[in-house]
Amino acid sequence: MATPAARAPQVVDFALSPELQQFRATVREFARQHLGAAAACDAEVRFPREAVQAAGRLGLLRVTVAREYGGTALGNLAHCVMLEEINAVCPSTGVTVSVHNSLVNSTLGKWGNEAQRRRWYPKLLTGEWLGAYCLSEAVSGSDAAALRCEARREGDHYVLDGAKLWITTGNEARLFVVFARTGADRVKGISAFCVEKDLPGVAVGKKERKLGLRASPTTELVLENVRVPADCLIAQEGQGFTIALDMLDGGRLGIASQSLGIARSAIDLIRAHLAAQVDGKGRPTATQPDQWTFADLAADLEAYRLLVWRAALLRDAGQRCSTESAMAKLCASRLANRAARAAVSLLGPLGASGTSAAERLLRDARVTEIYEGATDIQRLVVARGLLTSA
Ligand SMILES: Cc1cc2nc3c(=O)[nH]c(=O)nc-3n(C[C@H](O)[C@H](O)[C@H](O)COP(=O)(O)OP(=O)(O)OC[C@H]3O[C@@H](n4cnc5c(N)ncnc54)[C@H](O)[C@@H]3O)c2cc1C
Repeated sequence: MATPAARAPQVVDFALSPELQQFRATVREFARQHLGAAAACDAEVRFPREAVQAAGRLGLLRVTVAREYGGTALGNLAHCVMLEEINAVCPSTGVTVSVHNSLVNSTLGKWGNEAQRRRWYPKLLTGEWLGAYCLSEAVSGSDAAALRCEARREGDHYVLDGAKLWITTGNEARLFVVFARTGADRVKGISAFCVEKDLPGVAVGKKERKLGLRASPTTELVLENVRVPADCLIAQEGQGFTIALDMLDGGRLGIASQSLGIARSAIDLIRAHLAAQVDGKGRPTATQPDQWTFADLAADLEAYRLLVWRAALLRDAGQRCSTESAMAKLCASRLANRAARAAVSLLGPLGASGTSAAERLLRDARVTEIYEGATDIQRLVVARGLLTSA
């Protein structure tokens, strides 16, 4: 048998570095100080603008950006750790920050060019401008390649026509990453553009009335004869679909982290509820089935957090993580829903009350299994990834 000294060096480390632990504590304190209005914002369907601006001041809108552009380059793992903390308190702020960082800033960082980064990062990194990611349309969601929004080349411009649906932060954002059709080929005919809100022909359409995430505005984006300078094309013509899928690998980690935050809050509610059930001598009296439910949820939270961190580390290492990212979102989003449902059930009338924290968690959790790829789509991504790598 090998002696300890002869063993291979340890390659799996489940602990966050001291720097990341400090960062997590900073974000937790930020959430405590600035996200206290989460319930009120939800009830009033009010965008948490002050909280998002405060996140910008603290540098939370620059963590996925390289230092040479003013970012802090903390990377995907730090982003996931940060999003769990924010979403544990306010999932509406969480999705705003997640889309801005993982689908807009990161798209410019990975696929944009130097001029585009120099042009938009100064505004995006401070939160002066928020970003939105515009892929979905009435005819295309799970089947993103079916999109119809059109971009015609005319001299040194592209002319965009079409309508995007379900756009997170749609009425607050100043910069849109828009996917549009530049050719007939389903996949190679799609290109990506940076579109500024102020361009003539850009209009924010109807705002959706939603089950959850009510403080996060979701709108239609209408593009009518919008003349976009050709230098706003991201990467090459025809690379849009590749960009969309690549960025969704990172975006899904954001939603998986959102799910962890929601699950953690629901489990905390259950913990407090069960811990309060004691007999006259202070001994726990919670029923065994309730304890089993609590234990299962708590164990799954620990396990799925590791799935999320593993995928984030792969992405930080520049490796493809489509399968791992889809696994993380699949498991974490289901857990968020299961935990929130259990919290409502175990808390009884207190859970079902329209003003309970559990009720809001249940409503907010639902969409984690829908956006950035529905649960059934994640299962397909995982299966395809495993079958093609076999
Ligand atoms: C609150 C919210 C915010 C959003 N934000 C954004 C955003 O910022 N930007 C953006 O571009 N989009 C956004 N979306 C859109 C979102 O990504 C899509 O709704 C999602 O991808 C599902 O697409 P769909 O709506 O067309 O549903 P569909 O594609 O019709 O899917 C509905 C259901 O059908 C099933 N299904 C569909 N296709 C398959 C298949 N091939 N195999 C198996 N089952 C299948 C799945 O179970 C799925 O849940 C948002 C949506 C919501 C609700």
